[in-house]
Amino acid sequence: MAMRLFRLILVMIAGGVLLSCGADRPELFKESRASMDTLVSVTVVSASEAEARAAIDQAFSTITSLGRQLDFFSPDSEVTAINRAAGERPVRVSPPVLDIIAKALSVSEQSGGAFDITIGPVSALWDFHAERLPDPAALRKALPLVNYKDVVLDAAQSTVFLKRKGMKIDLGAIAKGYAADRAVETLRERGITAGLVAVAGDIKAFGLKPDGSAWRIGIKNPRPAGASSADELLATTGLRDRAVSTSGDYERFFIREGVRYHHLIDPRTGYPVNHCRGASVFSREGALADAFSTAVCILGPEKGMQLLHRTGIEGLIIGGDGAITVSEGLKGTLEFRTHKS
Ligand code: ADP
Ligand code: MG
Repeated sequence: MAMRLFRLILVMIAGGVLLSCGADRPELFKESRASMDTLVSVTVVSASEAEARAAIDQAFSTITSLGRQLDFFSPDSEVTAINRAAGERPVRVSPPVLDIIAKALSVSEQSGGAFDITIGPVSALWDFHAERLPDPAALRKALPLVNYKDVVLDAAQSTVFLKRKGMKIDLGAIAKGYAADRAVETLRERGITAGLVAVAGDIKAFGLKPDGSAWRIGIKNPRPAGASSADELLATTGLRDRAVSTSGDYERFFIREGVRYHHLIDPRTGYPVNHCRGASVFSREGALADAFSTAVCILGPEKGMQLLHRTGIEGLIIGGDGAITVSEGLKGTLEFRTHKS
């Protein structure tokens, strides 16, 4: 009798161990939602679905609330408050807004002004929906207002001041990468140790997938073979505790009389550049990957690559002619899917 009871207990313990093994096995949980005017997806590795869903929810809250603060078009965003007070007074902002502007200004310095968030008065004149070129007189008036050196940050007071009336900051080239950083931070604070946040083409990954492999990302071919292959991949690579961002002339554009007009604008001319089809940049920080992918597109393959080498940031640039240049540290880590042009 005692023996049978002992055996029964043994079986129960074994069963219990098996059961808890099953429940503890980490799995992938993924959700996609519209946020920041784009499609955002958050994937986490967790042994608990409830924990995963709660963390994902919180990550989306972080992204949505940042999106509200940084929105160039919303009448009540912090960015709009800064822009409205241009030439008049400094505006007190929240810590993330101060932080993202400080990062943007540093990329402007490093890129010699190719990246410039004061592009606002110029970017506002371009309408890619209506496929309309800016009025040349309006563009001539707007262009002198673009200069990141006229942004005054006061970290102690937590204020931002645009020195001249009419100046406008547009954080479109850094906001998504920065949001991916903050969302990953939120997930980590909730105890998640592995996951991936994709704010459109701004992706940040941490930890490893449940099977122990690295997250994989694809770089789109900026000139896919046909309309049905719009998502055709140029290359794939593993992503571990890093962010990647892609900027390109194929996201928002129109073609007029054989010329492609797109949303990556040279602050010196007010017009889109034609020496870059796309650039993908890898960095520990999503904000830097985002800003540098825009910056190197504006600079073009040669100067863009020089900037990457100088700053120790890795990337790939596809020139206006389709030629691909890869930074030193990235060589051998990319798997090309199609021919290289
Ligand atoms: P996407 O929005 O497609 O991810 P980017 O990150 O490259 O692409 O950002 C493009 C946006 O950045 C434009 O829509 C515009 O708002 C802004 N922008 C355009 N040119 C510049 C520039 N030279 N410096 C900083 N921001 C820019
Ligand atoms: Mg960018």
